[in-house]
Amino acid sequence: MSQATDPNAAPERELVVGIDLGTTNSLVACAQGGAPAIVRDGAGRPVNLPSAVSFLEDGRVLVGEAALERAPLAPARTLLSIKRLMGKGLADLGPAVRRQYAAELVEEERQLVRVRLGDRTVTPQEVSSLILRELKRRAEEGLGREVRKAVITVPAYFDDAQRQATRDAGRMAGLEVLRIINEPTAASLAYGLGGKEAEGVIAVYDLGGGTFDLSLLRVQAGTFRVLATCGDTLLGGDDIDRILVDSALEALGERGLDANDPRLRAQLRAAAEAAKIRLSTAERTTLRVTDPTRGVHLELDLERRELERAMEPLVERTLALCAKALADAGMQASAVDEVVLVGGSTRIPYVRERVGTFFGRAPHTELDPDEVVALGAAVQADILGGGDGGELLLLDVTPLSLGLETYGGAVNKLIMANAQIPAVATETFTTPKDDVTAIDLHVVQGERELVSDCRSLARFKLKIPPMPAGLPKVEVTFLIDADGILRVSAIEERSGAEASIEVVPVHGLTEEEVDRIMEDSYEHALADVAAHRLIDLRNESSSVLRAARRALGQAGDALAPAQRQAIEEAAERLEALSAGEDGDAIKAALDALNQVAEPLAQIVLDRALAEAVRGRRVDELEVQG
Ligand code: AMP
Repeated sequence: MSQATDPNAAPERELVVGIDLGTTNSLVACAQGGAPAIVRDGAGRPVNLPSAVSFLEDGRVLVGEAALERAPLAPARTLLSIKRLMGKGLADLGPAVRRQYAAELVEEERQLVRVRLGDRTVTPQEVSSLILRELKRRAEEGLGREVRKAVITVPAYFDDAQRQATRDAGRMAGLEVLRIINEPTAASLAYGLGGKEAEGVIAVYDLGGGTFDLSLLRVQAGTFRVLATCGDTLLGGDDIDRILVDSALEALGERGLDANDPRLRAQLRAAAEAAKIRLSTAERTTLRVTDPTRGVHLELDLERRELERAMEPLVERTLALCAKALADAGMQASAVDEVVLVGGSTRIPYVRERVGTFFGRAPHTELDPDEVVALGAAVQADILGGGDGGELLLLDVTPLSLGLETYGGAVNKLIMANAQIPAVATETFTTPKDDVTAIDLHVVQGERELVSDCRSLARFKLKIPPMPAGLPKVEVTFLIDADGILRVSAIEERSGAEASIEVVPVHGLTEEEVDRIMEDSYEHALADVAAHRLIDLRNESSSVLRAARRALGQAGDALAPAQRQAIEEAAERLEALSAGEDGDAIKAALDALNQVAEPLAQIVLDRALAEAVRGRRVDELEVQG
C-alpha cells in the first residue's frame, strides 16, 4: 500500500497557543481542532508556571517554581505578582500594593515603574517576558514543535497601557501576539457558552490572586457582547493571605517574634496561603512557621469559620462591584442566566456560596477555575489558526473613556466608557492662537473632566503651516481595534497636506524601543527619548516665544503693565533655559509662560474675532454659532 498522504486531507493548521498570563500562575493551552487542553511539557506535566522570577546575585535568572522556592531566601531579588505593575506608574500604586514588593520600585523618565535589583533595573514587561519565554520553552518541549504565535489574555479592566505592556512582553519573548482577549470572554468560550443556539446573559466572577473582575456578557446567535465590566485591579487572594499574615503576626508577636524580619514575613506568607488553601476542603488546620533568628517552631490553629469572618469584607466588596455592574447594564441579578467562576480563589466554598446567593443560581464549577481562561484562549487561538469556529464574533467594550486634552486643560471625550469595540470616533479641532506651527495632541483616559485627574496615555505633535487662530481644521480620529489597542491620527484639512505625526507614548513602549530592549540596550533608548523630548521642547519654546512677543506688540494698552511685565519676565526665563539641557526646567518655564500669557491670548483672540465680525450679516453669525 502506498504511504502517500491523502491529498484531500485538510492542510495542517497553524499552531497558535492560548496563554493565561496570570498574577499568580501562568498557563498554556492548545486546541488543535479538538477540545482545548492544557499543554504538557517534555516530562508530561501541565505547563502551569508560578508567575515568579528571581534574579540571583551571580547573574543567573530563575523562573517559575525555582524562583518561588527562592523567594523566602532572596525576597528583595524575587518578583511575584509582577502583573500588578504592568503599564503602571509609581503614583498608580497605593502604599498597600507597594508594601507587597520586597524589591525596590523606582520610576524613571517616562513614569513607568521599574524594579531595582542591585545596580540594575528591570521593567515589568521584561520580567513578564521571562515568564512567557519559559512557558514557550516548556510548551515546545512537550509539543515537539516551535511555538511562535499566541493569544494572550488580560483582565477586562486592563487599560491601554497595560494591554500594550502585555503585548510588548510577548514580543520580547519571541512570540507573535495575534490577539489580546479579555479573560471573562475566554472563560465563557471555554464553557462553550457561545454556541450558535446559545442566548442569554452570563456573569463571569473572577477572583484570582491579585485581581477581581465581574463581567456581564450577552450571548446571542454566536456572538459575545460585553454589557458591563466592573472590577478592582488590587483585590484578590493575595489580600486574604495578607489578612492572615497580619493576624498571625499579631498572635505570634506575643511569643517574641520580630514582625519586621523579611525572611519571617516571606515564610509566613507562604504558610498563610497554604493554610487558606487547606481550609477550602478542611474545617480546621494549623499554620506552622520557624522563627529564623531563634530556630523555634511556632504553630497557630485556624478554623474555616475564622477565615470566613476575616475575608467577609473582601467578599462584600466583590458583591458590591457585581451590583454596580448590574446597575451599569440596567438589569437585575435575576436577568443573569449563567454564572461562571474563574480564578483560584473561587475554590473557596464561602465565595461560591455568597456568589450563588447573590445571583440566585448555582455557578458553573465543572472546569478547573485556574485553567478555564487558558482553555478559552486556546479556543480563540484555534479559530485564528484556521479552526472552524470562525463564525464566532467577539465584541468587547472599552472600560474607560478616551479623549483629548483641549485648551485650558479640559478633556474632550471621543470614545465613552463601555463603548463597543472595535470603535472609531472623529472630531475636528482648531487653534486658539495665531500662527501655530505645532499642535500638541494629548491623549488621555479616564472619567474626570480635567486632564490633571485623568491618565496620560500618549502625546502627539502635529506640525502645520502657520495660519490665523481659528482657521486650521484638525481632524482627529480615535480607533480602537479588536485587541483593545488605541490608535490616534490627526490631519489638518485646510492645508491639504497630511502633516507628519510622532507618537511618544508616556506608558508602554514603541516597537523600536522593544527591539532595542531585545538587544539589551534599553539605557540608550531612554537617552534617545530624553534627547527627543529636549528637541521637541526647544522647538515648542521658540514658537511660543515668537507668538508671545508678537502678541505683546499687538496688545497695546489692552494689557495691564503688571501683566506685560510678568509675560516679559517669563519669556526671558524660557529663552535662557531653552539653550540648556534641562528638559524639565524648559517644560516648567514653557508652562509658566503659557499660563501668564493666557490673558494675552484672549486679547488677541478677541481682536481677531472683532475683525471677523465686522462687515458680516448677523444671520451668518448665527448659523455659524
Ligand atoms: P489565580 O490568580 O487565578 O491563579 O488565583 C490564585 C489565587 O487562588 C491565589 O491567591 C491562591 O492562593 C488561590 N487559591 C488557589 N487554590 C485555592 C484553594 N483551593 N482555596 C483557596 N484559594 C485558592
